[in-house]
Amino acid sequence: MKTAAVRSLKTAAWTSAESADLYGIRSWGAGYFDLGEDGSVTVNVNFDGKRLGVSLLDIIAGVQSRGLQMPVLLRIENILDAQISLLNESFGRAIRTLGYLGEYRGVFPIKVNQQCQVIGEIARFGARYGHGLEAGSKAELLIALASLDPDSGYIVCNGYKDSEFVSLGLQALKLGYRCIFVIETPTELPIIVEESRRLGIRPMLGARVKLAARVGGHWTESSGDRSLFGLTTAQIVQLVDELRGHGMLDCLQLLHYHLGSQIPNIRDIRSGVLEACRYYVDLAKEGAALGYLDLGGGLAVDYDGSQTNYGFSKNYSLDEYCSDIVEAIMSTLDPEGIAHPVIITESGRATVAYSSVLLFNILDVTHFEPAPVPEARPKGEHELIGNLRESLKGINPKNLQETFNDALYYREEIRDLFKRGQIRLRALSVAENIFLEIVRTIAREMQGVKRVPTSLEGLEESLADIYYGNFSVFQSLPDVWAIEQVFPVMPVHRHNEAPTRQAIIADITCDSDGKIDRFIGPRGVRKTLPVHPLVEGEPYYFGVFLVGAYQETLGDLHNLMGDTNVASVRINEDGTFDVAREMAGDSIADVLSYVEYQPQQLLEQFRTTAEQAVRKGRISVGERQAVLEAFSASLRGYTYYED
Ligand SMILES: *Cc1c(COP(=O)(O)O)cnc(C)c1O
Repeated sequence: MKTAAVRSLKTAAWTSAESADLYGIRSWGAGYFDLGEDGSVTVNVNFDGKRLGVSLLDIIAGVQSRGLQMPVLLRIENILDAQISLLNESFGRAIRTLGYLGEYRGVFPIKVNQQCQVIGEIARFGARYGHGLEAGSKAELLIALASLDPDSGYIVCNGYKDSEFVSLGLQALKLGYRCIFVIETPTELPIIVEESRRLGIRPMLGARVKLAARVGGHWTESSGDRSLFGLTTAQIVQLVDELRGHGMLDCLQLLHYHLGSQIPNIRDIRSGVLEACRYYVDLAKEGAALGYLDLGGGLAVDYDGSQTNYGFSKNYSLDEYCSDIVEAIMSTLDPEGIAHPVIITESGRATVAYSSVLLFNILDVTHFEPAPVPEARPKGEHELIGNLRESLKGINPKNLQETFNDALYYREEIRDLFKRGQIRLRALSVAENIFLEIVRTIAREMQGVKRVPTSLEGLEESLADIYYGNFSVFQSLPDVWAIEQVFPVMPVHRHNEAPTRQAIIADITCDSDGKIDRFIGPRGVRKTLPVHPLVEGEPYYFGVFLVGAYQETLGDLHNLMGDTNVASVRINEDGTFDVAREMAGDSIADVLSYVEYQPQQLLEQFRTTAEQAVRKGRISVGERQAVLEAFSASLRGYTYYED
């Protein structure tokens, strides 16, 4: 075959540098991910300015030898630490350079990744910067109180707060925590006032404002004055009056807004800060004891590495983000003679996205390759199939569109013949094979054509292989399905070999939405991914990168695919790595119990069925034992494909 010849030529010359370009890893990898000379993806960390790379393939081997099968969610603690440092140091630099008189104190919004180990690492590593936590619910407040040292970071409480929530937060103030209640709706104030009187503890309060500024990106619709949360101008004025009435205006210390997540355009960030500062100035002049400005989340991640204001990218660096914010605050507050506030941001996505990688193996592949079409026509072949053969022979650069339309028409007619019983299955399969050969030939011809007719676009995708990956989109990459998010996806190894196939990736849920078919391309989103041909008997591993934010808890149990195994690694200064923690994913018994089955009872029921089969003489007692053992081994097993 022609493609084989092309492949061997290319393979000889292919280098991992070419792969790095093709997959864009040096653009989206942010220095954390790269390709090594051996053709595998490396995880890179810095020790005193010295860069160390560890092969993901070595990590996979290490994890597997500890008994964790694919799919595995890999967490890299060093990357999480590095991101927390980066955020704090960048703000620190901007503050020093611009002569800002307040400080920066970040809080991590727990909802972005609530996993115990992640929050533990943020609290532990963030302590040196006084990095705190943002809690949006009672459960998250409990996490924050248990994880943080009272004298360390702030706890910002957003979301609806009932008296139980408020009472706990107030008592926490007495322990030394700086726990701030952000008032999101007017109904919260009476509850806070009452609990505060009852306990004799004065609260630290914030007000969440609804800014008029609208942001680009996926969350456009929920920004602006129709945003779901926050107080309108009328409600804020009323809040100030009521607080004054209660003698509590000095409790109002913080102004908060949140424009939405993943804000791709720096202009939107800047105009949000400028607008919020106007509120800040006027509330200070009203007599509120403001000292904190909380800008919420929104710091974006450049998932595709394009550095543009496309929805899954961002057109600014972290340094620009920090200095634009600091500068905008100074330019608004200084002329009014208002002291510089403590700057709080609630960056979630940007803090954790880089630190997790989903690893999975490829189980199988479907090719849409036509078999060679024999010259000779069988006797009595239907004339429509003959027409298809003529179309194939007559393809030239000038009639691609016409031939494609003809082929579609003949195939439809032939399928109708089959439905009416007028041709046999074998004849239909010959026709479909010729059709595929036509499509492939057209696709090849199209590469030399300057203007591709629009109805022919997408032709190549229809020829792409389907690679079946051992994972569930719904469990591990819910945003791929829910908001068509594009994550970097690529093979973990074999990058010294040309990826000669084009593929989409299907998961194992057998749901038609369980697939990845949008990838990072050199010019925006591409619909197929270059991959290597499978080699019999050799594993082929893929990584989906930058999945540390939002994916874990939003994932669901579609088709009862449970939590994956998780391995948390820490890379050491000598280039070795420790698997600091390993957590087995859900067993089948676990996921069954989530949907209210009792695994033990299921086994009992099945035992009864097996016993009856023995009585009826369908199976022997030995066979009964074997099938019961298989059933109970499955209950203990992993929900994914096991080797
Ligand atoms: C979700 C959320 C965040 C986190 O936003 P990121 O874009 O992930 O940084 C911060 N604050 C509030 C109030 C949120 O709802």
